[in-house]
Amino acid sequence: MATIHILSKSTFLRGVQCDKSLYLYKHYYELKDEISPEKQAIFSRGTNVGLLAQQLFPGGIDASPESPFKYAESVEKTRQLLEKGQKVIYEAAFVYDEVLVALDILVNQDGKWYAFEVKSSTRITDTYRLDAALQYWVITNCGIDLEDISIVNIDTKYIKNGEVEVKKLFTKTSVLKDVKKHQSFIEGKIPNLKKMISQPSVPNVKIGPQCFSPYECDFMGHCWKNISKDSIFELGGMNKIDQFKMYEKGIERINEVPANYPLRQNQRIQVDQFNKQEVLVDRSELKKFLNGLEYPLSFFDVETFMPAVPVYDGTRPYENLPFQYSLHVKEQKEAFSKHFEFLAEAGIDPRKSFIENFLKQVEKEGDILVYNQAFETSILKNLARLFPEYKQEMAQVLSRIKDLMLPFKNRWYYHPEMKGSFSIKGVLPALVPELSYEELGIGSGSIAMSSFEQLQSETDIFKIAEIRQHLLDYCKMDTFAMVKILEVLERSVE
Ligand code: SF4
Repeated sequence: MATIHILSKSTFLRGVQCDKSLYLYKHYYELKDEISPEKQAIFSRGTNVGLLAQQLFPGGIDASPESPFKYAESVEKTRQLLEKGQKVIYEAAFVYDEVLVALDILVNQDGKWYAFEVKSSTRITDTYRLDAALQYWVITNCGIDLEDISIVNIDTKYIKNGEVEVKKLFTKTSVLKDVKKHQSFIEGKIPNLKKMISQPSVPNVKIGPQCFSPYECDFMGHCWKNISKDSIFELGGMNKIDQFKMYEKGIERINEVPANYPLRQNQRIQVDQFNKQEVLVDRSELKKFLNGLEYPLSFFDVETFMPAVPVYDGTRPYENLPFQYSLHVKEQKEAFSKHFEFLAEAGIDPRKSFIENFLKQVEKEGDILVYNQAFETSILKNLARLFPEYKQEMAQVLSRIKDLMLPFKNRWYYHPEMKGSFSIKGVLPALVPELSYEELGIGSGSIAMSSFEQLQSETDIFKIAEIRQHLLDYCKMDTFAMVKILEVLERSVE
């Protein structure tokens, strides 16, 4: 079995997305963007799920190389295992026509071969089908006559009760029919990609919607470096296809958008306010909103995590589980705010202590301000369902929730620096530039999520203390930001 490879599954998919991305990856790897902590967390999740799925076919032997990237070793190990008649192989590696693939699980049942590719997601995408099609092409051309090829992914209907039951957690779906349909595409694409890689210069590919689909490209730092600040790619609520339609007409900056260009109302506001460099305030609507707020005001924010593999009994894969909140309370408009917080211990179901602490600390009257009501409300409603003993108290709390996002979403207040966004991360730097998430150890909800997941298995007490402090700082910033944002809104109508 030849072991030299030019393409692998990931580089093939990269080339299908964009020739230039593959070329840069092969010849100018140093131009690749650094991997963000958010993406790193997704990759680690995939690895953990893959290991768990191996239990679907116990007794297998892992053919992974001892050190990463030594794929020839892995291909050779797979060959030897096949020769010895091994029935279950994990990470079975094959090379055909200089294309390397490593299949998650290869199984021989009753003399027939079955391939399984594991994904930590809950649905099967076209990219997964193409990925399976490449595996099928390589493996069958290596002489393994696959009876079937399936994608193993997570079944959201599963509810944990005791030990995780892998057979119920995962669902297997044959993709053989689609995979066969893709074979001629693969057959034609591989020589094209190889030819393209061997050319002396970088293919001339302009930026386009392919930079984002199916995955955000990791050469954007290079290809997009000439896209100026205040480009039309900052137009909020506009999809990439429409942004590129505009770009192809030669409109690159927001101030170049013609007055008669068809835009949605919020986009038109964004363009107009950018050109005027003025803040837009709908005093009448904003006043109505602000006058409707009842003190004491509680500013409330929840952090949740969504483990792919359920951690607590009674929960499903990817269920949103609240583990932390921050609460700033202002008795009156001019008063200083008091702060309360809660962060669950890792390893214990956080939901009961969350609801009990929350009901103790939240004010019994006045409004509760959140940022994006739909999210906090759904979390609290789930808790009320789960703990019916608190149903009435929770109903009272839920009836007092108001959304601080509304003035921004409805454009009762718009600052050019919001750049079309109405998320708190877009609004805060525009309204309160002196406050920033950048200095914090955790700067986004998704990192907070993966950090809490990390705490579930972390044993180093110093690391645990550090992560917990970062989580507390992050969540506190969310509600403090709301306090400060409200002050700006109040000043704007005085
Ligand atoms: S950023 Fe866009 S144009 Fe550049 S390599 Fe990636 S996908 Fe291709």
